[in-house]
Amino acid sequence: MCPHANGDSLPVEQQDMVPVNGLSSRPSPAKTNGINGTNGVNGHSSRSRSEAPKNPYAPRYADFLSNVSNFNIIESTLREGEQFANAFFDRETKIKIAKALDAFGVEYIELTSPAASEQSRADCEAICKLGLKSKILTHIRCHMDDARIAVETGVDGVDVVIGTSSFLREFSHGKDMAYITKTAIEVIEYVKSKGIEVRFSSEDSFRSDLVDLLSIYQTVDKIGVNRVGVADTVGCANPRQVYDLVRTLRGVVSCDIEIHLHNDTGMAIANAYTALEAGATHIDTSVLGIGERVGITPLGGLVACLYAANPEYVKSKYNLSMLREIENLVASAVEVNVPFNNPITGYCAFTHKAGIHAKAILNNPSTYEILKPEDFGLTRYVSIGHRLTGWNAVKSRVEQLQLELTDEQIKDATAKIKELADVRPQSMEDVDTVLRVYHTGIKSGELVVGESKIFDKLLSRHRESSASPMGRTPQPVDAVA
Ligand SMILES: [Zn+2]
Repeated sequence: MCPHANGDSLPVEQQDMVPVNGLSSRPSPAKTNGINGTNGVNGHSSRSRSEAPKNPYAPRYADFLSNVSNFNIIESTLREGEQFANAFFDRETKIKIAKALDAFGVEYIELTSPAASEQSRADCEAICKLGLKSKILTHIRCHMDDARIAVETGVDGVDVVIGTSSFLREFSHGKDMAYITKTAIEVIEYVKSKGIEVRFSSEDSFRSDLVDLLSIYQTVDKIGVNRVGVADTVGCANPRQVYDLVRTLRGVVSCDIEIHLHNDTGMAIANAYTALEAGATHIDTSVLGIGERVGITPLGGLVACLYAANPEYVKSKYNLSMLREIENLVASAVEVNVPFNNPITGYCAFTHKAGIHAKAILNNPSTYEILKPEDFGLTRYVSIGHRLTGWNAVKSRVEQLQLELTDEQIKDATAKIKELADVRPQSMEDVDTVLRVYHTGIKSGELVVGESKIFDKLLSRHRESSASPMGRTPQPVDAVA
């Protein structure tokens, strides 16, 4: 099995894996590739070509608007995540999640509207009283009644939202743009008068009329809103559309720009990255991406993507080794598994199998890894008990077992492992048995290189002796990564 199975602690003993650590150092990443000195359009410092980042995944020289190295995370597991079909967070769970996100280092934690229910209001107040470093936001409809309840909970800011697409204006709230603008001004001025942050967001922004959108964003920017929000509520946008809209908006408002992206077509991480490139400053996430339908930009996936662009910046902002714990906490709370292919914490995220990959990884992990597992408190593994294995990977296991074999002998033993793995996958214990029996045979003089039949006899003799009443119990046949 692959090592990072869901819900367990770090693997102690793997069935078919060789943990590989500290094999060689990787090239040091670019110290910074941040372009903007501050959020927003101004405050850029120019970069000379000689200072260009070495990291090929970093933003390019020409990305003068990019905030890929200058962003904030608005973590919405306790708001958007509550809209996930399986979610029901009691107060204790909400507090555990809020504390974990705070310890991870997210800049903002967004909570369900206190107007939603009496329990939601009381939980919001309780989380505000925890004294977390992350700012606490709550998410409300653009309505004075909701705004009054929200400011009384003690939050650091209020995220106001209203549907602006023709679909929502016709089939949801039934209000026209004049009414939306008038109410938005009233609510924003009220929240500002209480001395806390306020964001105004449209809903279903990508299916809203661009002229209407830019007009209302300009209006709220003029009256001093902290952020405007763009929301791909139905998950229909592609990266180019996101870039175009955010880039256009960046030219129209001077406040910060938040983006909220649903993942219906699997674009949420790419769209978030693109939004930052176009000048967005705040990204909404949830742990494992949980939310309405298939949810939004996942925290872990976004962190992986932004780490690839600028590892040092992301490491300086967040306690990355907590990611796995937070994902397991939320996965358990909503009774789902961490997906096998999840970035960073997927159970095979740092497992290398093919012989060619294993050889290169053993020489230098950066050959096949863009993320360093040790930066996330994780371990890389080389899977060796299969037909695709290579002698270099087997050699690393021989060294771990402190067996003395020449390269020629290791190649000979590897041939036997491949032969056996053609019949069934070999567990780590099976591989170790092959290597130990081979080693004993060589040292006793019973075996020489190329004597496959003699090796078979030695293996059968070992199995018979192990099958005695004092011997080992049968092992399950594990699947190999
Ligand atoms: Zn949403």
